[in-house]
Amino acid sequence: MQVFKFGGASVKSAEAVSNVKDIIKNCSEQKNLVVVISAMGKTTNLIERVVVDYLRGVDYQEHIDQLRTFHFDIAKGLFNNPSASIFQQIEKLICDLESYLKLRYFSDDELYDQVVCFGELLSTHIVSAYLNQEGVDTQFLDARIYIQTDNNWREGDIDWAWTTKMIQNDVKPMIQDSIVVTQGFIGGTINNKTTTLGREGSDFSAAIFAYCLDAEKVCIWKDVPGIMSSDPRRIDEVTLFKQLPYKYAAELTYYGATVIHPKTIRPLALKNIPLYVNSFLEPDKEGTVIGDFSDYPTTTSVIFKPSQAIIRFEEQDYLNVSKGDLGVVFSECARLNIKINMIKNSALSLSICTNNETSKIDKLKDLFSDKFVVQVTTGLELITFKNYKETTLNELKIDLSDVYMRQFSRDTLQVAVKVEAD
Ligand code: ASP
Ligand code: MG
Repeated sequence: MQVFKFGGASVKSAEAVSNVKDIIKNCSEQKNLVVVISAMGKTTNLIERVVVDYLRGVDYQEHIDQLRTFHFDIAKGLFNNPSASIFQQIEKLICDLESYLKLRYFSDDELYDQVVCFGELLSTHIVSAYLNQEGVDTQFLDARIYIQTDNNWREGDIDWAWTTKMIQNDVKPMIQDSIVVTQGFIGGTINNKTTTLGREGSDFSAAIFAYCLDAEKVCIWKDVPGIMSSDPRRIDEVTLFKQLPYKYAAELTYYGATVIHPKTIRPLALKNIPLYVNSFLEPDKEGTVIGDFSDYPTTTSVIFKPSQAIIRFEEQDYLNVSKGDLGVVFSECARLNIKINMIKNSALSLSICTNNETSKIDKLKDLFSDKFVVQVTTGLELITFKNYKETTLNELKIDLSDVYMRQFSRDTLQVAVKVEAD
């Protein structure tokens, strides 16, 4: 069996959805396939705006109207019958979204998950109904019942034992004679609350289904030809990786390559399931396959991670940063879910390069402002060069003039560069 994952760009219009149907028709035996789909186009960003405005007490109706029009327009381009039940279904999902928004929650993050999931619910209802109209027999599956997580809102942790059991019991028999269509990005708690798995998390959902069903392969269909050595918008010379070892792909995603979600690799590597990254625009072209390969690429990769901040903790009175202090800073970072992308310690200070998430950084700053002089620099970009050589910067014509932090280990150079004023 196989798992296909289609992201937002692959279902952003009626033509795009029709292309997805062609790929499914051409590539599969019309069964033994789980199709994982994200929200259409930029829908998740739009629903995030609904949530933000609702929480601020600002009128959000304009965003809801946009959401409705966008999905109705796509459906109108797909369904021959103007009274097809999908139109009522879209209306009902949007009404449900509005009513979930107004329920009472313990936290804003809990509210976020109950509402943002509607992007995926809308897209999978539309695509599944459309495939059925086009003669591709599908069954709709609500991923929230099968992917069980804890209630760590916005980044639910998977209960693997429960999830595996549920998927094996119920989904395995379903794919014996049809294609299953389900949502990426969402899961559910034991109390039937919705959770999300982190932005861009649909790739991870595909890996979860593949792991639980012992899939032969996963294919992620993207609007790029595969995994490139660098971002072609930033670097002139890029090459397409034909094959990548799991470990190398995991490193690229850790450093900030956005082509696949960082959590995707592990479940697949554990079961040796190959991951294909192909273009939905040229589905017959060979893309990249990530698997159990021993040959590491020798090409230099450049990975850009935007929106970074450096938090610098400086000891007062010429004291050195003690072991105990390091321990407390790291454990508070873990508690606040602050991801450490680069660290540097010197005689009198410790610096951490992290994603510029203002509310988390402010909390950390408050916690330590008595003990240290805490200084935050924003407007940075983290650039990682894998397989870095002395000639790399010249060859790639990269000017690193405004470097705030630098680290070099074996063949990897990382620099935090100032790209915007504070
Ligand atoms: N729709 C979600 C997002 O935009 C998940 C995904 O696209 O993978 O983050
Ligand atoms: Mg996406």
